[in-house]
Amino acid sequence: MCKLLTDYLDITASVYPGKNAFIDQEREITFSKLREEACNIANVLISKGIFKKPVLIYMEKSISMVSSFLGTAYSGNFYSPVDTKMPAERIAKILDTLDPAAVITDRSHEEKVRALIKDRDILIYEASVLPFSGTDMTSEIRKKMDDSFTLYVLFTSGSTGNPKGVTISHRAAVDFTEWVSECYGFDETTVFANQAQLYFDLSLQDVFAPLRNGSTTVLIPNRLYASPIRVWKVILERKVNTLVWIPSMLSLFANLELLGHFEKADLKTVLFCGEVMPVKQLNYWIKHYPETLFANLYGPTECTEACTYYNIDRKFNDDEVLPIGIPCSNTVALVISEDDALVTKPGITGELCIGGPCLSDGYYGDPERTKESFIENPFSRSGEKIYKTGDLVCYNDMHELVYIGRKDHQVKVHGYRVELGEIEAAASSEERVTYNCCLFDPEGERLILVYTGNIDEDELKNILKNKLQDYMVPSCYIHRQEMLFNENGKINRKALTAEYIN
Ligand code: AMP
Repeated sequence: MCKLLTDYLDITASVYPGKNAFIDQEREITFSKLREEACNIANVLISKGIFKKPVLIYMEKSISMVSSFLGTAYSGNFYSPVDTKMPAERIAKILDTLDPAAVITDRSHEEKVRALIKDRDILIYEASVLPFSGTDMTSEIRKKMDDSFTLYVLFTSGSTGNPKGVTISHRAAVDFTEWVSECYGFDETTVFANQAQLYFDLSLQDVFAPLRNGSTTVLIPNRLYASPIRVWKVILERKVNTLVWIPSMLSLFANLELLGHFEKADLKTVLFCGEVMPVKQLNYWIKHYPETLFANLYGPTECTEACTYYNIDRKFNDDEVLPIGIPCSNTVALVISEDDALVTKPGITGELCIGGPCLSDGYYGDPERTKESFIENPFSRSGEKIYKTGDLVCYNDMHELVYIGRKDHQVKVHGYRVELGEIEAAASSEERVTYNCCLFDPEGERLILVYTGNIDEDELKNILKNKLQDYMVPSCYIHRQEMLFNENGKINRKALTAEYIN
C-alpha cells in the first residue's frame, strides 16, 4: 500500500499516463502531465529551502489548484487552501495562525495576494509549472518523508472567533482514500462531478480517488450550481457516474423536481455527507435512480471527511431519519453518555467520539483547543486519542448509529459549518455593539443576530460582511433596547430562542 498521497500519483502516472485525471472549465490534464506540473512546483519550493512548512493556496477551484496541492505535498510541505472571497480580516487571522512559508496563487489573483499578504514568498502558478531548470530534487525529499508528515490544514469556523486549522497527515488521507475506494469500488472507469469547494473536506474523494484509482474528476465551478441544468449538461457530456455532494445540493435538485425533466445520467454511486439528508428528497432521487447506490457518509473535518457510513439498503418513509451507519474500516466509534459511560444499547443518547488513523493531529498552532477536543480514549489502556465530535447520537435496534443533533452551538448553514460563537465574537468586536447573541433558525437555515447598542442593522451587517465569510453573515437582525439575561448573568439564549424562533 502507498504511504504518501503522492505515491499514488507516481504509480498512476505510469499506469495511465495519457488518461485524464482532472477536467475543469478551461482544460483537461492527464496523470503524467499532472505529475510533471506538481514536481515542477515542488522543485521551486524545495529550491527555496522550504520544508515541512505550511503553504497557503490562493486560487479558484481548478486543475491549477490541484497541481499546487500536489506540488506542495511532493516538496515535503503541506497545503492550506483558502476561499478567495474570504474577507481580509479573516484571512489575517488565518495567516496569524498558519504563518505560511509561501503562498501559491495564479496571475489573476497576484495583485490581490500581494496587497493582502506581505513578507512571504509568493509563487505564481503559471511560472512555477514551467520545466524546472535545475536537478529534480523530489526523490531526495521523498526519502526524508514518512506518512506522519502533514498533508494539509483546512480551516473551519472556531467558536472563540478564530478559525481552527485542522491538520491532516498523509497517513489519514491515504487511509481514507483506501477505505472509500474499496467500499465504493472506484476504479479507472469512475468519473466524479465535483461539487464541493476544494477548501472543504467533502472534496477529498474527488481529489484523492483519481490519484489512487485512475478515475477522472470533473471540477465544476460553484457558480454553475446556480443553474442546475448547466451542471446536468456537464454530467451528461462528461459521462459522470459518481457524485459526492452535499445534501443541500441534492435537495435543491429534488425540490425543483428536475430529475424527471433531465436526460437520464449513468449514475452508479451517489454519496452525500456533511449534514442531515432529508429522506423525502432522497426518496425523490431513488425514485428516478432506483439502480444507483446511495450512501449517507458522516464525519467532521477532524476525521478526514468520513468516519461512518450507511449504504441505503432499505426503504425509509419521508418522515424517518437516515442512520449514519457503522464505522469505516480502521475507525473506532464510541458513544459516551453524559455520565461518561460507554453506550452500547439502543435508544441511549451520547456524544460520538472517533478514533483511528483517520484522526487529525489536532488544530494547527493551537494546543489548547487540541487538548480539549482530542482526548485519551478512557476505555482503552493503550492511551490512543479519540476526537470528541460534539455530535449527539444513539444506536437504533440494528446497532446503526443515528445522528440526533449537536451538543454545542455549531450549526450547518446550507452545508457550511458555522460556530455561532465566531459570529458573536465578530459582532462584539464592533465597539457600538454592547451585547449580542446569534440564533439559528433551522426552518430556512437562517442566522439571526439579536443585539443591543447604538448601531443600526444595515451598518452592522456591512461591518460583519468585512469580517466573516458570506455564509456566516446573519440575514436577520433584531435590535433590542435591553438584552435578556438568565439568573447566572449570562445572555439567555434559551429565552431569546423561545421569543424569536419557536
Ligand atoms: P464538517 O467538519 O464541515 O465536515 O462538519 C462536520 C459536522 O457536520 C459533523 O460534526 C456533524 O455535525 C455534521 N455532519 C456531517 N455528516 C453528517 C451526516 N451524514 N448527517 C448529519 N450530520 C452530519
